[in-house]
Amino acid sequence: MELKNDLITTIMDFRKKLKKFVDERDWNQYHSPKALAIALNIEAAELLEVFLFQSDNFIPENLDSLTDEMADVFIYLINLVNSLKIDNFTEIVKHKIEKNAKKYPIKKFSAKKYKKQ
Ligand SMILES: [Mg+2]
Repeated sequence: MELKNDLITTIMDFRKKLKKFVDERDWNQYHSPKALAIALNIEAAELLEVFLFQSDNFIPENLDSLTDEMADVFIYLINLVNSLKIDNFTEIVKHKIEKNAKKYPIKKFSAKKYKKQ
């Protein structure tokens, strides 16, 4: 299983690749949903660490440390999807985006109206 690029790689491609990675190392015994949720949050904290004590608009010159932690967060999220055997994650995310769109209608929540003219 070769992961290609953002245009053609699917959630299922990541799921299969990471399942193989975990199976080959016999790590399923450590991948309870609780352990994976904790690990995901630790990686999210490592992502925050990149910005620690920086200005609000800070973007590191070299994005490697940032993208590395973003990948860790994504990997643990997909491992959690695998652990819970969720087979419709795209639908779940799509549904959540739709739910957010209803919760925050453009007319009421667009930041454009707060911009100086
Ligand atoms: Mg990390």
